Amino acid sequence: MGEYVDRPEAKVEVLRCNGCGAAVSYSETARAPKCAFCGSVTRLETPSDPMEQTRHFVPFTVSRGEATEAYRTWLSGLGFFRPSDLASSARLESLKALWWVGWVFLADALVSWAGDSDYGRRKASWAPHAGRLEMPFRDILVPATRGLSETETDHLTSSYRLDTAREQPEGAEGETIVEQFDIRRSAARQRVAEAMGQLAEHRVKDGFIPGSRFRNFSAAILLRRLVTQRYAFPAYVIAFRYRGRLFRTVISGQDSTRIVGRAPYSVWRILGAICAGLLALALLIMLLSLAG
Ligand SMILES: [Zn+2]
Repeated sequence: MGEYVDRPEAKVEVLRCNGCGAAVSYSETARAPKCAFCGSVTRLETPSDPMEQTRHFVPFTVSRGEATEAYRTWLSGLGFFRPSDLASSARLESLKALWWVGWVFLADALVSWAGDSDYGRRKASWAPHAGRLEMPFRDILVPATRGLSETETDHLTSSYRLDTAREQPEGAEGETIVEQFDIRRSAARQRVAEAMGQLAEHRVKDGFIPGSRFRNFSAAILLRRLVTQRYAFPAYVIAFRYRGRLFRTVISGQDSTRIVGRAPYSVWRILGAICAGLLALALLIMLLSLAG
């Protein structure tokens, strides 16, 4: 299933992370001993299988300065349940500009589906429905990255403009880190097929099955056409430290408002809020009992 637009290339050397497993391109000039994604130690590796190369690079449009600014704004706007000194005490450890990888596919398919819904039922709780329709899939992004989590890529995905893609990585100041595709083709096809299945289910439930609750949904997808292309997406990965612990924040390289990350919570503030809530409840009960 699917035609790749070009052939994989010759062997390359990559830096493989011992922590998250991401592989990034290796260059003499920009040698990074630590993983740009998670900060773990990397090792030089020459993969035995030829690696597929990125053909489309979405360029950076957000500068390092803008990314740093966005991180500071994000940190100070996280809300009450964070430590009060978070913004002032957090120390920015590193800010790396990198490209993470994903497949973008385009497909036309015939989707045959069946499922039960709560619409049209009489005495039984569920009624069966089925249908068949031609479904186009355009510019659907399926992450191939090992360096970023699903939560992170979910947050960033819609911030990228695919039509701005170039043949070379562009727009980043300084060191250029490009993640490598190192997932076999069969696995790639499977991920693309899964993404298509999920999308088809979502679309059918959203617009073709009447009702609001569904069960036993199944869909068979017959592909008429599938083109998969390899893309790389720009992001800033920030590592910051708060009281000895390391945290990671990721910002889209095309929209600095797309920022996702973990940050510490303040146990005392959370306990304080719970105590205040309990106190308010106790007061309310007292008032009610007095009124009654
Ligand atoms: Zn790593």
